[in-house]
Amino acid sequence: MTDLEDAVACLSTEEFIAGVEAAASRFDAAVYPQRELPADDWAVLAEAGVLLPVLPAAYGGRESHTEMCRVVEVLAEQNLAVAVYTAIVTGLALRPVVLWAEEEARREVLPRFAGPLAPTAGFASTEPGCGSAMSGLATTFEEVEGGYRIRGRKHWQALSATASWWVVVAKRDSGGRREYGWFVVERADGFHTSQRYDALGLKVIDYGVNEVDAFVPAHRRINVGAGSLSSMVDVYLSGRAMFGALASGFLRRIAREARAYADARRIGRSPLSAIGFVRHRLQAIDGAHAVCEALSHHVRTRLDLTSDLTPAFSAVQAVKIVAAELMVSSANHYQQLAGGEGYRSGSPTNIAAQAFLDSRVFTIFDGTNDLLSQQLAQHCLDGSGGRSLSAFLAAWPPTASAVSAHGLDLRFLDVELGQEHLVLAGRAIAYTFAVGCVLRWAAETGADAGRARTAVEFLRADIDRVRVDFGLMERLGGNA
Ligand SMILES: Cc1cc2nc3c(=O)[nH]c(=O)nc-3n(C[C@H](O)[C@H](O)[C@H](O)COP(=O)(O)OP(=O)(O)OC[C@H]3O[C@@H](n4cnc5c(N)ncnc54)[C@H](O)[C@@H]3O)c2cc1C
Repeated sequence: MTDLEDAVACLSTEEFIAGVEAAASRFDAAVYPQRELPADDWAVLAEAGVLLPVLPAAYGGRESHTEMCRVVEVLAEQNLAVAVYTAIVTGLALRPVVLWAEEEARREVLPRFAGPLAPTAGFASTEPGCGSAMSGLATTFEEVEGGYRIRGRKHWQALSATASWWVVVAKRDSGGRREYGWFVVERADGFHTSQRYDALGLKVIDYGVNEVDAFVPAHRRINVGAGSLSSMVDVYLSGRAMFGALASGFLRRIAREARAYADARRIGRSPLSAIGFVRHRLQAIDGAHAVCEALSHHVRTRLDLTSDLTPAFSAVQAVKIVAAELMVSSANHYQQLAGGEGYRSGSPTNIAAQAFLDSRVFTIFDGTNDLLSQQLAQHCLDGSGGRSLSAFLAAWPPTASAVSAHGLDLRFLDVELGQEHLVLAGRAIAYTFAVGCVLRWAAETGADAGRARTAVEFLRADIDRVRVDFGLMERLGGNA
C-alpha cells in the first residue's frame, strides 16, 4: 500500500468526503480557468482519493457506491466540468474493469489508479458514423496470436488526447452473427488522437477524433454480457445513474447563486427578486434542485454502482432524462435572469454563462435524451402484458405511488404510439418516476414539505406539457 492508500483507507465516509470537499474548493467554477485540467490539478484530486471509491479494497480502494455518488456531487457543486471529468474515469472507464475484467487485467491496471500519481482513463464507444445506434459501429476486432487486433475510429471521447487507458468497444461479424467485444487498451497499444475538437463547454475536458489500431493481449478482453448488445447494457448505465449526483450538486449551486444574484441586482429601486416572474423562475430552479436531490437520493439508496445495473434499467434511464432536462432548463432560467451579465464569460457577478455552456450537453451525451425516452417507453410497453400503458404505470412499482398519491391521469398515453409518441411518453414516464422519488425522498429525509410540493407541481406541469404535445401532434397530423 502507498502512503496515500494507507492514509485514506482508514477514514470514515464523512472524513473522506470532507477531504474531497477541501480539495474541490480550489476548483470553484467562478475563478477556475476554462482550460484543460493540468496534470498537477488532477494529482490534487487523486490525492484526495476521488478514484478510490470505485476501486476494490484489494487494490487500495474504498469500494463504495455511496462515496462514488457523493464525490461527484461534491465536485459538481464546485465545478460541473471537473465532476464530469472524475465521473468519466470512475463510472465509465474504471468501473467496467473492476466489474467485468479478468483478474490478470485488474491486477495490471487497477493499482496504478490508487496512488496520487494516478493516470486517467476514458470510455470509447461513439464513432463518427455511430452515436445513437450501435448498428453503425465500424470499429472491428479480430483474434490474433496472443490477443486481439482492434481497428477503427472513435470520436468525442472525454480525455481523448490525455487519457492513458481506454475501455473500447468493437464488433466482429462472422457467419451472419455480430459479436461485440470490450477491451482495455493502453494508449501505447495503438490509440492515437488525430484531431482535437473545440467543445462549447466543459473546457477542462479534452475531446477529439481517435484512431485505433491496437494489439491487445487476450487477458484484457472484458467479458461483459457475453458479447450480446442487450446484455451489455450495464456498461452504458453507470454514467447515466451518476447524473443524479451531478445534477444535485450542480443545481444546489445554481439555486443558491441565482437567488443571491436576484437579491443583489437592483432594477430601479427594487431588487430583481421583487419581480413576480423572476420569482417564478427562481421557484422553477428551486423545484428542479429538489427533484434532482430526490433523484440523487434514489440512486444513492436504491441502486448500486458496484454491481450490475441492468435490473435498474428503467430507473436509470428516467434519472438521466429528468436530471439532464432540469439542469439545462435551470441553467437557462439562471442565465435569463442574469441578463447581459449572464452572457459574459468570466463575469465577476455570476457563473450563468459557464453553467449554461457546461450543462447544455447533458441532454445529448451518454445517450441522447430523445433516444433514452423512446427506449424507456418501449420497455414499459414490452412489460405491460396487454394492459393499457396508463393501467400498467398505475401498477408498476417505479411509478405506482406517484400515480395514486397525486391522482395522475395518464390515459392520454393510451393511443397507438408512433415513434414520436414513444419519445414523449418516455418523458412522461420519467417525470412520473421522479414524482415518486420526491415523495420517498421527502418521507425518508424529512425534507421540507414546501420544497417537495413545489418539486411535484413542476413535475406535474411537465407531464401536462407532454399531454399538450400529444394533442398538438394529433392536430398537425404528424408529418412535417
Ligand atoms: C461533450 C461530449 C462528451 C462525450 N463523451 C463521450 C465519451 O466519453 N465517450 C464516448 O464514446 N462518446 C462520448 N460522447 C458522444 C455522445 O455520447 C454522442 O454524441 C451521443 O450518444 C449522440 O450520438 P451522435 O452525436 O452520433 O448523435 P446522433 O446519433 O447523430 O443523433 C443526433 C440527434 O438525433 C436525434 N435522435 C437520435 N435518435 C433519436 C430517437 N430515437 N428519437 C428521437 N430523436 C433521436 C437526437 O436529437 C440526437 O441528439 C460525447 C459527446 C459530447 C458532445
